[in-house]
Amino acid sequence: MVMSKSLVVVDGIKKTFPIDSGLLSSKKSVKAVNHVSFDIKEGETFSLVGESGCGKSTTGRLVTRLLMPDEGKIWINGEEISKMNETKLREVRKQVQMVFQDPYASLNPRMKIRDVVAEPLLIHTKLSAQERDRIVAEMLEVVGLSSYHAEKFAHEFSGGQRQRIGIARALILKPKLIVADEPVSALDVSIQSQILNLLKDLQEEFHLTYLFISHDLSVVEHISDKIGVMYLGSLVESGPKEMIFANPRHPYTKALLSSVPIPDPRAKRERIILQGDVPSPVNPPSGCLFHTRCPFVMDICKSTPPALREAADRDHFVACHL
Ligand code: SF4
Repeated sequence: MVMSKSLVVVDGIKKTFPIDSGLLSSKKSVKAVNHVSFDIKEGETFSLVGESGCGKSTTGRLVTRLLMPDEGKIWINGEEISKMNETKLREVRKQVQMVFQDPYASLNPRMKIRDVVAEPLLIHTKLSAQERDRIVAEMLEVVGLSSYHAEKFAHEFSGGQRQRIGIARALILKPKLIVADEPVSALDVSIQSQILNLLKDLQEEFHLTYLFISHDLSVVEHISDKIGVMYLGSLVESGPKEMIFANPRHPYTKALLSSVPIPDPRAKRERIILQGDVPSPVNPPSGCLFHTRCPFVMDICKSTPPALREAADRDHFVACHL
């Protein structure tokens, strides 16, 4: 069996954002990402899931180095990028591209699609305008559009078509890693599956590696190889998709999964309704971050944070005292 090597290695990254409370005496901060580690093998899809504000998008921005981690290390294709300077990062950025949630906001409305998709080529290569146009026309066909779309503007397209344009732009430099941040959550359900299928096909065709970010476990089910569940900036469970879906161990993962519809109408899944809201990350709970909402909370949970440990099933990690 051929073992793939890790394209992405994330080791104990932390990111804190200061908050301006308006009072000189009270400096507050939010631990957006707290000691998160994972690795993604070449050609794999690792999905980060969790409610809004759990730190998954910040983690994506740290991996693309749109943000710099306060602590911890990130390797992309063997290169440590956590503290890399901008000149060296330019080279790495050719290998790492992002697809965003709102394709309309990420496409310049005043530029023709030809120029929007070609922009990374203009920045990172010395290709002639003619060569750029040829590559753009090819890429538009690859993502299910037509070469004549190059002459149009973003507002002339539907949401799904705009996301295809965003994907074409992300792929134009033939990157190795795509960080897709909620790429289908702004789209209708019928269009979501088209874009997910496209991403799967492109992964095979270009041997892409994905870090896929979503608040919705049902969206990541078909695209993921591995899943990491985040809560208040920390990973609480991670493992192969099959294990997470068949044998979730963390109470938070169980609650998230209980809201995923099952295709078989005769099958039943007991819905777990979590009490209360996600606590403020400015003032996170002591001990286990989930203890204020956990139906199984014990005394130890309120004082001692559980470490992320390998469960009985190999490659399956969970942070819970149970
Ligand atoms: Fe619930 Fe305790 Fe496990 Fe946290 S450590 S998830 S509070 S049982």
